[in-house]
Amino acid sequence: MDFQLVLDQINTELRPLLGTGGKVASYIPALARVSPLQFGIALRTCAGETAQAGDSAVPFSIQSMSKVFSLTLAIKALDEALWSRIGREPSGSPFNSLVQLETERGVPRNPFINAGAIAVADRLVSQADALPQLLRLLSGLCGEAVHVDAEVARSEADTGYRNAALANFMKGFGTLDNDVATVLDVYFHQCAIAMTCEQVACAAGYLCRDGQHPLAGPTVISATQTRRINALMLTCGTYDAAGEFAFRIGLPCKSGVGGGIVAVVPDRLTLCVWSPALDATGNSWLGRQALELFVAKTGLSVF
Ligand code: GLU
Repeated sequence: MDFQLVLDQINTELRPLLGTGGKVASYIPALARVSPLQFGIALRTCAGETAQAGDSAVPFSIQSMSKVFSLTLAIKALDEALWSRIGREPSGSPFNSLVQLETERGVPRNPFINAGAIAVADRLVSQADALPQLLRLLSGLCGEAVHVDAEVARSEADTGYRNAALANFMKGFGTLDNDVATVLDVYFHQCAIAMTCEQVACAAGYLCRDGQHPLAGPTVISATQTRRINALMLTCGTYDAAGEFAFRIGLPCKSGVGGGIVAVVPDRLTLCVWSPALDATGNSWLGRQALELFVAKTGLSVF
C-alpha cells in the first residue's frame, strides 16, 4: 500500500476545511493561543516505513496522549497490582468529572480520564524520578530528545483547579499515596510535553509490535500488557466519543485537548494526526475526519 499517497490525499482533501469547524481548547490559556489553522499526519509501519503530510513536523502539546505513556511505565512497573485502585471501564461522563469519584469511593473509572491519570502519576511518583523517566521513555522511543513546554506546564498549574480538586478528593479516599502537589506537578508536566506527529507515530510504535521497541531499544512491555493498553484506548481513549470512534474508525485511539490523536493498527502501524480545533466531545475535529478517511481508504481497522 502506498501510505505516502494516502496521507497526501487526506491532507489535500481536509486542508481546505481548516478554520471551518471546531474550537481550540480555551480552558488552558497557553493552548488557547495555538492557531487552529494547522493539520498534520504521520505514520510509521511495523517495518519502519514512514509517511507524513501537512504540519507533521510541528511540535504540539500532547496533553492526554501522554496518559498512554505514563500508563505504560506504570504497567511495566506494577503489572496487575496497578488495578487495585484504578478501574478499566469507560466513564460515560466528562474527562474531568468529580461525580463518579464520589459514588465509586475515590476509585477512578479508568486510567485515561483525568482522575485515573492522576492516580497513575501517583504510582509513578512512588517509583521516584517520574517525569525524567517519562521523558527518557519518550525520547528513547522516538529517537529524539523530547521536552516539556514550560509555558504550557505553568498555564496548566495556574488554572488546574478541577485537577487539584480531583487529586485532593482521591487523596481523601486513600487512592493517592503521595503528596498531592508533587503528583499534580508530574501530571501537569506530562500533559505539557511537546512532540510532533512524526515523533508520536514513532514513539507509539511498540503498541503495534506486541510491546517491542520501535527502534533498536529493549522490549517496552509484554505482548499481554500491550493488548491491554490497546483495549483501554479503544474503549476509553477518546473521552465520551469512544463508542463513536469504535463505530466509525475501529482503532485503538488516544486523543488530547491539544488536538492530537494517536491511533494503532495492531501488527501494521501507528498513526498520529493533529489539528488543534476540537469538536464538542473534546477530540480534534479534523483529526477525527482524517482517521475516518484513513480507514476508508486503506480498509485498516481491528474489525
Ligand atoms: N492537561 C489537561 C487537563 O488535565 C489534559 C486534558 C486532556 O487532554 O484530556 O485538563
